[in-house]
Amino acid sequence: MSLSLAIRRYGVAGILSATTLLMPGCGPNTSTVTAGFSGLDDAAISDSSRTGDWLAYGRTHDEQRFSPLTQIDSGSVARLRPDWYLDLPLDNALVSTPLAIDGVLYFVGDMNVVRAVDGASGELLWEHDPRIAEHLTYRRRASGWIHNRGITAWGDRIFQATWDGRLIALDAATGEPIWVQRTFEENSGLYITGAPKAFKGKVLIGNGGTESVPTRGYVSAYDAETGELAWRFHIVPGNPADGFESDAMAMAASTWTGEWWKYGGGGNAWHGFTYDAELDQLYIGTGNGAPWNHKVRSPGGGDNLFLCSVVALDPDTGEYLWHYQTTPGESWDYTSNMDIVLADLTLDGRPVKAILHAPKNGFFYVIDRTNGRLLSADPYAEVTWADRIDMRTGRPVETQNARYANGPARIAPSIAGAHSAQAMSYNPQTRLVYLPTIHAAGIFNDSDVDLENWAPGEFRIGVATSWQPEDDGARFSASLQAWDPVTRKTVWEVPQPGLANSGTLTTAGNLVFAGREDGRLVAYDAESGELLWQYDLGLGISAPPITFAIDDTQYIAVLVGFGGGVASGIMGSRAPNHGWRYGRQTRRLVAFALDGQARLPVQPPAGNAAPIATENFTVEIARSEQGEAPFELFCAGCHGPAAAAAGMAPDLRASAIVMEAWAFTSVVRDGARRARGMPGFDDFTDEELLALRHYIRHHADAAAAAR
Ligand code: CA
Repeated sequence: MSLSLAIRRYGVAGILSATTLLMPGCGPNTSTVTAGFSGLDDAAISDSSRTGDWLAYGRTHDEQRFSPLTQIDSGSVARLRPDWYLDLPLDNALVSTPLAIDGVLYFVGDMNVVRAVDGASGELLWEHDPRIAEHLTYRRRASGWIHNRGITAWGDRIFQATWDGRLIALDAATGEPIWVQRTFEENSGLYITGAPKAFKGKVLIGNGGTESVPTRGYVSAYDAETGELAWRFHIVPGNPADGFESDAMAMAASTWTGEWWKYGGGGNAWHGFTYDAELDQLYIGTGNGAPWNHKVRSPGGGDNLFLCSVVALDPDTGEYLWHYQTTPGESWDYTSNMDIVLADLTLDGRPVKAILHAPKNGFFYVIDRTNGRLLSADPYAEVTWADRIDMRTGRPVETQNARYANGPARIAPSIAGAHSAQAMSYNPQTRLVYLPTIHAAGIFNDSDVDLENWAPGEFRIGVATSWQPEDDGARFSASLQAWDPVTRKTVWEVPQPGLANSGTLTTAGNLVFAGREDGRLVAYDAESGELLWQYDLGLGISAPPITFAIDDTQYIAVLVGFGGGVASGIMGSRAPNHGWRYGRQTRRLVAFALDGQARLPVQPPAGNAAPIATENFTVEIARSEQGEAPFELFCAGCHGPAAAAAGMAPDLRASAIVMEAWAFTSVVRDGARRARGMPGFDDFTDEELLALRHYIRHHADAAAAAR
C-alpha cells in the first residue's frame, strides 16, 4: 500500500508507525514533535532575528536566503556530517526550498506531494497528495515539468500551488486541505511550477506556459482565510475592443502594435514574487512574450509592457505602482522571472532601499524600490544582444543584428539565460550576492519563418533557436560568482560542473552553500570563495540548501534529486553525462549538523542505463525520421533529446516497453503510467506511435553500437 493510500485509509495518526519504512537507518522514532504553528504574519516573516526558522521561500520577506546562524561557520564547517535523512523512493526531480517552522520542515516533492517532517529526526509527520495525475490534461502533458519550487506559510496554514493550477490551503498541523481554488481553467495550456507567496493575509500565485499555447499572463491574490479571489493583475493588455481592466493596461496597450491579443502576448509570472513589508509593496517578475519573436507579436515595434519587467503592485488591491522593464520589445526569451531580492545598500554614501535582480538577459540590475528608478546595470556574463544599459534612459543599447534581422545571429546569453530560477542569495555582512551563472550563447534565426502569415499554435515561438556551435571558443559552462552590487563587479568566481546547479544559501558563519549537478553539496568561504567543505551525496542536486536550528543545533538541509526545467531543457545532450538514472539512485531529504552521526546508504554508482541491443526490431530510417519531431517536442523534455535520458524519466533506449506495440500503446496513448507522471497522449495515431518507436530504437541501436 502506498503511504498516501494508507493515509487516506487510516488517517494521519494511524500511519505514523508505518512511516519508519520510509527512513531506514535513522534509528527508532523518538520524536515528540507535532506539526503545526499559528499566528504566522508579516512581522514574523520579516523578523530576521527569528534565526532558527526558514519562514518564506528566501527565508524572510527580503528573499535574501541569508541566515544569521553561526554555529556552522568557516572554522567548524569541516565537521559537518549527515545527521538524519528521509528517503523519498517515489520522488525523482527535486528542486524545492523547504520551510522550517518551529522545528518542523515542510516541503513539496514530485507530483506536488507536500510533507511535514520532524526537523531533528526526519520522521514523517504528515503527507498531502493532491493527486495531480487525475488532472494531467492534454494541454499540460508535454512539458512534463511535474516539479515544484516551494510552498508558503501564513497563519496556521501551508499553501501549495499545483501543476494543474490549484491553490490549496493545508492545515499545517495535519496536512488536511482547508480550501482549494482553481487559478486557471482546467483545460488551459498553463501550469504552475512556482511557489505561491503569502503576505498580508493573502496568497499570490501566477503561472507558466508562455510557450505552450497563446497565453495572456496574470497573477492572482487569494484571501488566505477563505480562498476567495482578492484581486488579479494582468501582465499584458487584451484586445482593446473588449475594454481594459485598468489604466495600467491602457498604458501598456500603447506599447504594443498589430493584433497582439491574437497571440496572447505572454508575460507569464512563473517565479519571482517578493513582498516588501517595509514599503508595503509587492514586486512581481514577469516573463517573455508570446510568441518569442517581437516581429510577429508586435509588428510595428513597441516595448510591449509589462513583459520582462519588475512590476510593483499595491498588495491590497493589485493596482499598478511602478515598473522597470529589463528587456523592451523582448525577442530572446529573456524573462525577468528570476528572484527579486531586497537589500539596504550604501551607494555614493547614500542609503538606498534596493532591489537586486539578475534576469536571464545577462545584466545585473540594482533598482531603487521606492520608485523603480534604475541605479545600475552591468553584465554578469557574456552579453552580445546589448552593448550596455543607458543610465540616462534606463534602456539597453542593442547591438547590430540583435534582433536577427539579417539571418542567423549568435547571441549571448542563450535562451537558457545567464541566470534562471536557481536562487541567488545576498549576505549583508560580506555585502555580496552569490549568483549561480550559466555561460552559453545560442543561434537565433527567423529567415525561414513566414512572419507575415504566421499563426499561433502549441509550442510555436516564431523563431528557430539552437545552441552555439561548441567549437566557437565561447564558454558552455556554469559558475558560482560572488557579485558586489555596489562596486558592480565579480569579486570571486568558481567553476561548477555542467550547466544547471542549485541555488545558494549564505550565512553569518561566512559561508556559501550550493548543490551541484555532480552530487556534491559544497561550502565556500563567503569572502574568498575558497572551498571549505564538500560532501558527495551520490546524486545530482538541483534544490537549494537551507539552514535552520532546533534547540542548540544548527542544521543544513537539502533535497537530493537531479532535475527541473533547466536540467531537462538547457542541458540538452549534456545532462546524461553524470549518469544519474531514474529509479536507481535514491532521492532523499538530507540534514547535516556538526559531528552528525547518520550513515547514509551508499548510492548505486552513476552510469547510464545499458541500451537494449536487439535484432528483433529492425529500424526503418524513414519511420525514425518521422518520429523525430514528435519525440523532441513531446518526449524529450523528460526522456532527453535523442532519447538519452538524464534521470528525470526512464531511458527509453533501455526500455523493453518500446519493443512491443501493445505495451508502448498502453503507456504512451492509454496512460498506464499516469500515476507516475507519464500522461497519456490520446491523440497519437498508430502511425505516430510506430514512428516514435523507430526513432527511439534508432538511437538505442546507435548507443548500443557505441558501447
Ligand atoms: Ca519562456
